[in-house]
Amino acid sequence: MAVPRILIVGGGYVGMYTALRLQRRLRRGEALVTVADLDSYMTYQPFLPEAAAGSIEARHVVVPLRRVLNRCQILSGRITQVRLADRKAEFEPHEGPALTIAYDYLVMAPGSISRLLPVPGLADNGIGFKTIEEAIALRNHVLGRLDVAASTPDPEVRRRALTFVFVGGGYAGVEALAELEDMAADACKYFEGISRADMRWVLVEATDRILPEVGPDMGRWTAQQLRERGIEVRMKTMLKSAEGCHIVLSDGEEFDTDTLVWTAGVKPHPLVRAGDLPVDEKGRVRVDAAMRMHGTDFAFAAGDCAAVPDLTRPGEFCPPNAQHAVRQAKTLADNVLATLRGQPRRPYRHKYAGSVASLGLYKGVAQIYGRELRGFPAWFMHRTYHLTRMPTFNKKTRILMDWTLGMFFPREIVSLGAIEEPRKEFTLSARS
Ligand SMILES: Cc1cc2nc3c(=O)[nH]c(=O)nc-3n(C[C@H](O)[C@H](O)[C@H](O)COP(=O)(O)OP(=O)(O)OC[C@H]3O[C@@H](n4cnc5c(N)ncnc54)[C@H](O)[C@@H]3O)c2cc1C
Repeated sequence: MAVPRILIVGGGYVGMYTALRLQRRLRRGEALVTVADLDSYMTYQPFLPEAAAGSIEARHVVVPLRRVLNRCQILSGRITQVRLADRKAEFEPHEGPALTIAYDYLVMAPGSISRLLPVPGLADNGIGFKTIEEAIALRNHVLGRLDVAASTPDPEVRRRALTFVFVGGGYAGVEALAELEDMAADACKYFEGISRADMRWVLVEATDRILPEVGPDMGRWTAQQLRERGIEVRMKTMLKSAEGCHIVLSDGEEFDTDTLVWTAGVKPHPLVRAGDLPVDEKGRVRVDAAMRMHGTDFAFAAGDCAAVPDLTRPGEFCPPNAQHAVRQAKTLADNVLATLRGQPRRPYRHKYAGSVASLGLYKGVAQIYGRELRGFPAWFMHRTYHLTRMPTFNKKTRILMDWTLGMFFPREIVSLGAIEEPRKEFTLSARS
């Protein structure tokens, strides 16, 4: 009899943790697990702001799938369609012909993508903050802008270079802005003629609050802290246009910038709508409390792409965050195994514990089980919590080393933006 094949689409939080548990608990020859992901690594997203700020080496916040999932098959490339009717998925490797993958059991975990609005100029001039590539690019870009500003006599070029705009006041936007501002404020002492007062950092948020994840009081406190640091926090304001990097806000203000970061929310990955999966009006895969797709007994979904019922808040669904994703993966793996073995599945149930956010070196905010923390204790909690959650002993140790070294040596202030065009110098030499 053929060995059953479990296909996991996406090797992020849900995908990697599901595969890890399956490879640990499956008996030899019981099933073959295949993980298909665009990248060959899992990204620990809560550490992206610290990676952008240079407090953690970028390579240390990603986990190589081939190393940790050494008993799974890893495919690097894009899944373009998943079908339940014939239990097949279409896969495009990064190079070479596309192939069709047949499966017996399916786990959908492609996560989410940035939710863009039809703002003129946004798609051409903005950058998101969801991937390690974006975090590295943003770090190089911000330091590169300081270089530009310090090297030009033109006040207009300088003003543009030193204006940084972030749209979206959730944890991704607030943490990214706060960490990068902290880094730039520290770095500018090495750039002649630039002080913190020359820089303009703007946070644009459509609603009347930021950081909803830590509750209204802590959100207000965070806004006040950011303002005291000289950051403009503009609530009830929307980005109306960004054509030619000319920013137009809904309150009527207009200015130019070289840096526009869009972190105004996420939406379920569109891949879930590319086949015949059951999808709700918000584009999430419909699943029951055991994370089984409606109408099937062999397909599952969890994480940012799925509407998993929150049994601790009847009638509601789990919000898209890492805390749920990791815990859902554990139950999901057990339910896949139970299905394989003809045993009963169990529902996912977890009460959201709260959130921790870093706002720069030694600064943070947290709300855990209703307890509010601010400043250094919250920052310490953020680091401790995420370090314990970071997969593998190897990565934990490397991150701890980065932090320890950071206490004794100044941060790196070099922009390696040229890394995006590695052949430029060689091509110029060939032409001269
Ligand atoms: C900057 C930032 C900070 C955050 N901080 C926190 C935090 O402090 N606390 C918290 O709880 N949550 C946080 N989150 C949210 C958290 O990271 C997500 O909720 C979590 O990653 C969701 O897990 P997932 O498995 O559903 O998706 P992901 O972890 O995003 O994994 C999806 C995977 O699918 C792959 N994929 C996508 N499309 C395809 C395709 N077509 N074919 C193959 N593979 C594909 C992707 O490459 C990716 O590896 C943060 C997010 C960001 C962006």
